Amino acid sequence: MRGLVFPGDRQARIENFDDPKPGFGEVVVAIKAACICGSDMHGYRMSAAERSAKGADRIIPGHEPAGVVHAVGEGVTSVKVGDRVAIYHFRSCGHCEECRSGRMMWCEERRGYGGPIHGSDADLLLTDARNCLPLPDDASFALGAMLMCVGGTAYEAMQKLDARANRRIAIFGLGPVGLAGLLFAKAMGAEVIGIDVAPHRLELASELGANAVINSADEDVAEAVKRWSGKDGVSGSFETSGVASAQSATVAVTGRGGRVAFVGFGSSAPSIVPAEFIGKQLSLMGSFVFPIDHYFPILDFVRRSKIPLEATVTHTVPLAEAPEILAAFDRGETGKVILVP
Ligand SMILES: [Zn+2]
Ligand SMILES: [Zn+2]
Repeated sequence: MRGLVFPGDRQARIENFDDPKPGFGEVVVAIKAACICGSDMHGYRMSAAERSAKGADRIIPGHEPAGVVHAVGEGVTSVKVGDRVAIYHFRSCGHCEECRSGRMMWCEERRGYGGPIHGSDADLLLTDARNCLPLPDDASFALGAMLMCVGGTAYEAMQKLDARANRRIAIFGLGPVGLAGLLFAKAMGAEVIGIDVAPHRLELASELGANAVINSADEDVAEAVKRWSGKDGVSGSFETSGVASAQSATVAVTGRGGRVAFVGFGSSAPSIVPAEFIGKQLSLMGSFVFPIDHYFPILDFVRRSKIPLEATVTHTVPLAEAPEILAAFDRGETGKVILVP
């Protein structure tokens, strides 16, 4: 099969690999849609020396997949060849307390695709039967793939921010996760102000229903957000950019008793001062993908509310063209990108 690799220094190429064979309890899925995620860029941008020292230069990236079951190993009864499935983000032991509670992202033995094991930017993906989530016929492969990372992450954060009518939410960073957050927040009844520095992202956010947008390169964010929200700030902030100045700004724009959810890795520079949120009694939270059982309510909400998550996709390209589109994605010139083998 073909698979994408990142040799380092912003290089990407397609290489040939042996087809995976499913062992006991394992499944091989023929990929029909694999999204590029902002977090893939950490490996893409890493130096060639660091990639090869880690042995990562021969690992296929990609952790947002959907496809069709291609082969099943012994002992697999939950799926069969031909089933449409979305594939959960981490393989894990399946029997510890965290796994049994659905929180496979906290399993001590978790293995992320594109980390220690091959990911989904390939023709085929080897996973466990328990990672295969049923994808109904009326849900596209693109949607299934998007729910596995960007969609699930945004939904969980909006639940934590208590998005609903009469809530005003500031979204920092209008890349794919920020835009998905915008769509969920609006569908839950909240009003949204979007903040970014890229004009085309601000435009897309407006088209997708943002009540207001701010270009933080041109305006004082704290002033502009408070002018829009009234009171002493928004009820919730969603930080997706990972930029230190945005992390600081979330605390400045969130009003008394409000909540802030952070999902953007990135800067490790100190950015938040407790004295700025103690008096306001803010709740600051991290949010990290989603427990596997939340797939069902998320999918149900998206289908019943007809949330157009696919509208954040700007490019759907053949796997063979991944190297070119990755360069554009890296420059921030695209929205969500989907690779199709
Ligand atoms: Zn992702
Ligand atoms: Zn476990």
